[in-house]
Amino acid sequence: MKLTLVAPATDVSRRTGRRPKGTPFFHYYKLGIATLAGATPPDIEVEAVDEMVDLWDPRTHPTDGVAISALTALAPRAYQLARTLRERGIPVILGGMHPTFLPEEAGRHADAVVTGAGELVWEQVCRDWQRGALKPVYAACQNDTSIHVPPARRDIFRNPFYPPLDIIQFSRGCVHRCRFCSVNAFFRGRYHYRPIAEVRAELAGCRRKHLMVADDNLYGDRAYCLEVLGALAPLGRYLGIQGTVDMAFDGEVMAAARAAKVGAVFVGIESVVTESLREADKLHNQIERYAEAIASFHRHGIFVEGGLMFGFDHDEPDVFRRTLDFVDRIDLDVAQVAIVTPMPGTRLFAELDAAGRLTDRDWAHYDCNNVVYRPARMTQLELLNGVEWFRREFYRRRAIARRAWKGRRWFDLTTLATQAALNLGFRRNHQLGLDYPP
Ligand code: SF4
Repeated sequence: MKLTLVAPATDVSRRTGRRPKGTPFFHYYKLGIATLAGATPPDIEVEAVDEMVDLWDPRTHPTDGVAISALTALAPRAYQLARTLRERGIPVILGGMHPTFLPEEAGRHADAVVTGAGELVWEQVCRDWQRGALKPVYAACQNDTSIHVPPARRDIFRNPFYPPLDIIQFSRGCVHRCRFCSVNAFFRGRYHYRPIAEVRAELAGCRRKHLMVADDNLYGDRAYCLEVLGALAPLGRYLGIQGTVDMAFDGEVMAAARAAKVGAVFVGIESVVTESLREADKLHNQIERYAEAIASFHRHGIFVEGGLMFGFDHDEPDVFRRTLDFVDRIDLDVAQVAIVTPMPGTRLFAELDAAGRLTDRDWAHYDCNNVVYRPARMTQLELLNGVEWFRREFYRRRAIARRAWKGRRWFDLTTLATQAALNLGFRRNHQLGLDYPP
């Protein structure tokens, strides 16, 4: 029997022509799908369809069953696919963040819904599917701190448009409690980590040139973070990681990151307004130390991609200009810019919903590019236009050139090239309307 694992894509980012849309940098394969493939019993033939890079027709695609993983913005597409496939009599299983938070809604579109970390119950799901006896809901519960994850099957992604980058995950979840964060809601505030030996074995099968460590917050457990970096150092592969701003002040961790050849870090800066950070419960960020943190990353040869969010209740209409001046001053290398979006399952969603401030329940708009609630101190249009202005200004050619010129002081050639390419990639995606592709 053949099982198809699908990563849906939005109307704007879905591949419809000869080549995928936008910048190859953002076309990396989906680790969640690869992990499910790894957990699939070997007697089942498994394939992946990634709608960002693969062309397929759900009306005719030969398969015996389909599993679709969906974030909130992708739920409408997932439901549309499910409808088409089920009309053909093909069973559909839905999982991922959105079905986990809204299993009843997802259940109306699927034969089965998997909530939580799917690989924990995947073997049972597969066996039930083979027998034609899928249950409506499979709830995967992960209570232990230490977890085992089957090795991901990266071989199922054959598309030549993927960049030479492997994705690996050591830990999941986060120790912080940011109000807007779906990761925190999905893992119910828990931090889980895999035995290092298990990940080391999986790394042996990663053949691509670069490595992205996709842990939600690698610095969630300092001792574990040091172990991970120690395990990565002998590989000598160019690395990207995700952490928090405060890791920059930890000399030992920064030295280990340098030894492991980390060249890029993603950190959630979110806001340069103290009250907005407080409102978001992002209490580990200290605005007065941002400059020092970025300087520390730079000193260790690491460029910084900062997540920025606009639309907090304390954001005034001048927040865009203030933020641009600020991030220029502190030499932020790359910005991933989002509109505050209350994802279902988060505290932010519950609070805005209770206050009657949600103005849009079309999940396709929950993509961090639309305003789906009433902001407190500006109009929806001001917020939308402000974000558009910020993205345009931050990614002006002259600004990109200035950042690359400054970068030559801190970065080796690979890091400098990656920093510049990422800047140009964000610029191009913005021009194509592909900002923040979910
Ligand atoms: S630090 Fe990042 S991953 Fe952790 S809760 Fe906050 S936003 Fe989520």
